Amino acid sequence: MNIIFMGPPGAGKGTQAERIVMEFEIPHISTGDAFRLAMSQGTPLGLKAKEYVDQGLLVPDEITIGIVKERLQQEDCGKGFLLDGFPRTISQAEALDSIMADMERKIDYAINLVVDRKLLLDRLTGRRICKKCGATYHVLFNPPKAENICDKCSGELYQRSDDTAEKVGTRLDEYINKTAPLLDYYRSKNLLLEVNGEEEIDTVTSNIVKILRGQVQ
Ligand SMILES: [Zn+2]
Repeated sequence: MNIIFMGPPGAGKGTQAERIVMEFEIPHISTGDAFRLAMSQGTPLGLKAKEYVDQGLLVPDEITIGIVKERLQQEDCGKGFLLDGFPRTISQAEALDSIMADMERKIDYAINLVVDRKLLLDRLTGRRICKKCGATYHVLFNPPKAENICDKCSGELYQRSDDTAEKVGTRLDEYINKTAPLLDYYRSKNLLLEVNGEEEIDTVTSNIVKILRGQVQ
């Protein structure tokens, strides 16, 4: 089961990815983890990547692709993998296709969690943090007993500047614009699976599992 997993911030991608890899006993591969592994193992590509990272530079595509390729060739990917955060561009998607072809494998599905923008905004802007003890709340999903006051220490709650509607809206629009061509790419190959991410967490998981097991057309 070779899966690409996509979804905007706030869609619950991390949670669902964890559940899917448990269900299918495949590794969850994020580019960040693959980079850290290659760097800590000191592979030639890992060392090259480290030079860029240490200088605060963007790692060139061919290094990123090489690191992903090495990671996918490791033994634990024998039964498949779930790729998270890669590919991000059409050229990376094409590179992934040729990596798969070299390995005589193919991508089975590109899963996209679909959640309405308004709901994403509600989810992502609702976080509140206690100024005194750092406890976190959510105005909708985990509200404090008294508005804006910490249950634990009676401290005042605040919203991080990254969590404001304006910042979150910009982040979401950037994500949507960047990802649209990728969704088209996988749609045109009949690999795109759009899953409703607005339902209960358990329902979303079981819907994905059923589709991957071929129980739903
Ligand atoms: Zn507190």
